[in-house]
Amino acid sequence: MKNRDVILQQAEQYNSFYLYDEATIRTYTQALKEHFPNITFLYSLKTNPFKPVVQTVFSEGFGADAASLAEVQLSSHLGLPKNMVQYSAPGKLKADIEAALDKAIIIADSLHELQLIEEIAAAQNKTVSIGVRINPNFTFTADKGTPSKFGIDEEVLFAHTDFLQNLNHVEIIGIHVHLRSQELNAQIIKSYYEKMFTLAQKVQQHLAPSLQFVNMGSGLGIPYAEKDSALDITYLGAETTKLANQFKQHFPNINIFIETGRYAVGKSGIYATKAIDIKESGGTKFVILNNTLNGFIRPSLAQLVMHYSHDENPAGSEPLFTSKDAFTFQVLNDATEQETVTLVGNLCTATDVIAKSITLPKMELNDVIVINNAGSYAAVISPMQFSSLVPPAQLFLSANGYILSE
Ligand SMILES: *Cc1c(COP(=O)(O)O)cnc(C)c1O
Repeated sequence: MKNRDVILQQAEQYNSFYLYDEATIRTYTQALKEHFPNITFLYSLKTNPFKPVVQTVFSEGFGADAASLAEVQLSSHLGLPKNMVQYSAPGKLKADIEAALDKAIIIADSLHELQLIEEIAAAQNKTVSIGVRINPNFTFTADKGTPSKFGIDEEVLFAHTDFLQNLNHVEIIGIHVHLRSQELNAQIIKSYYEKMFTLAQKVQQHLAPSLQFVNMGSGLGIPYAEKDSALDITYLGAETTKLANQFKQHFPNINIFIETGRYAVGKSGIYATKAIDIKESGGTKFVILNNTLNGFIRPSLAQLVMHYSHDENPAGSEPLFTSKDAFTFQVLNDATEQETVTLVGNLCTATDVIAKSITLPKMELNDVIVINNAGSYAAVISPMQFSSLVPPAQLFLSANGYILSE
């Protein structure tokens, strides 16, 4: 177990905590830079906005994919210039747009938002350069689009050329598409990128002659279950570099962005919790852990999905559910004896089951158990206010061995 001693040491102070590891973040972010030399990466802060994590990713030259005004403000506060922060989210409020105007490239998510940005810019006597999110006429795997709450349908956008030309205070300089997370098949991502370059060309020629960027969103997956094989980043990087070079020959002024949250930090985090009580009931042994569903919801959600699904392997629904066996549990003790137990939490509800009938080294009170894959969509999506328990700590292990708690 990586960082075993650090985890055991912190467990003396905290009954449950996340630990994010700088060295792992650097490994993953540097691998992306190395394999995709002509791409600029944007970090999707919503995956993990813990400040030392964000600072580490930014220090590798990543910009920000901000999903809220607060994420725009954090990115700006941490030193990112406006052209490295893209603010893309459905349903932005007028106040969000006003406050973000000078700190981020705003990505308009609807025709209504385009109009709103026009009005705000006109009132301030400005012309603003923005991007527009498109719901394209394709998906990762089909040459036909699907209805989406995100962006403007490709057809609708191209049917509104007059509307766009009448926006006197708005200049469209970029396009953004994000259709999928957690794809492990490099071939599928590559064919999606091909379609994106074609779309960018079409937009440049018919809608936005001064196009400056194409943001291809995310898709880059990481292996969760033991059976998952890692995304072939060497192949995907080489193919993307070729595609980008071809595109750049015709459009040297268009920069290419790829977004990622989980690829940058998903593998950097673990969740540690402790056995608070152990009991037997009707032949089942229950280990009661601190802050399970409320501290790290995803393992409990996987149990819930499996409980209701008739499918042996239900499809993922990111960022809440990846697959039934996306998380592993490791007990940090030296027991040689094994035991089959059910791992539950300390909430006053029976639904906080995080593992049923799992065989683990025999646990004693205060033993520490570690769950992997806790760097992304973990602390941020967990209902920590539930039952007003003391929430898990968030800790950052720096490359030189210091622990930061903020
Ligand atoms: C959430 C999100 C991402 C990040 O997805 P990952 O699977 O974490 O890489 C990227 N772009 C947009 C627009 C998103 O909403």
